[in-house]
Amino acid sequence: MKRLPIIAGNWKMNTLRPEASRLALAVAREAREITSQVEVVLCPPFTGLDSVSESLKGSQVLLGAQDSHWKAEGACTGEVSVPMLKEIGVSWVIVGHSERRRGLGESEAMIHQKLMGVLQGGLRAILCVGETLEERKRAQTWQVIERQLATAFEGVEPLAAAKQVVAYEPVWAIGTGQNATPAQAQEVHAQIRQWLSKRFSPSCATALRLQYGGSAKPDNAEELLRLPDVDGLLVGGASLQAESFLSMLQSAVKAKGGCACSTEPS
Ligand code: PEP
Repeated sequence: MKRLPIIAGNWKMNTLRPEASRLALAVAREAREITSQVEVVLCPPFTGLDSVSESLKGSQVLLGAQDSHWKAEGACTGEVSVPMLKEIGVSWVIVGHSERRRGLGESEAMIHQKLMGVLQGGLRAILCVGETLEERKRAQTWQVIERQLATAFEGVEPLAAAKQVVAYEPVWAIGTGQNATPAQAQEVHAQIRQWLSKRFSPSCATALRLQYGGSAKPDNAEELLRLPDVDGLLVGGASLQAESFLSMLQSAVKAKGGCACSTEPS
């Protein structure tokens, strides 16, 4: 089964609303011809979601959020729930980004609850996992990632898991300009797929799409996307310029050959 490549732009805490709209309009206009061959997701900050949602109307480019709370409503000052995101047209939610795990103290238990909230609310998750440089140096990369996966996916059924995305984002590669080598990325992606096969089922492992994230840019996108277990990219810095993001979408079409792909398990 061929998997539809998926490229998501994580704009982080960047773009005021006019700029967010302009960027979304430029991506939507230029990506029109290729959205059947690559799934495109834009994740602006919360304040830009409604203006980007408007800008994406009539296009196949999807809207993503950078975070969500696990509860549907309640006394959670400052938080945004899955039903609120759904109302505004969000399809995907990033869960467990390392900037939230490390910078804001998000625990693995919280990430599990957030993943469950996204699934129960009927949206799809981009679950981020990845090791720090110290963990890699101590040869703990797989141990860390396995624990992150096992905790996040606890209690999730194979059919539900198959529809999500796992993004391998080595912490040392995010925003540093230093990407994982193709060999490092492929090694971890293959391990994740093997784990999915054992934990869920071979068909879940075949269907679930794996993104690489960490200083992905036009210069290295095609090489990374040519790897057999890299199905897409989660892009931070290089998604803030329409030109570089669009060039990475073209890389996905080139690398994956364009296809009638499925995002569902067989
Ligand atoms: C990210 O924010 O998920 C990311 C990968 O950032 P960058 O591409 O800037 O390293």
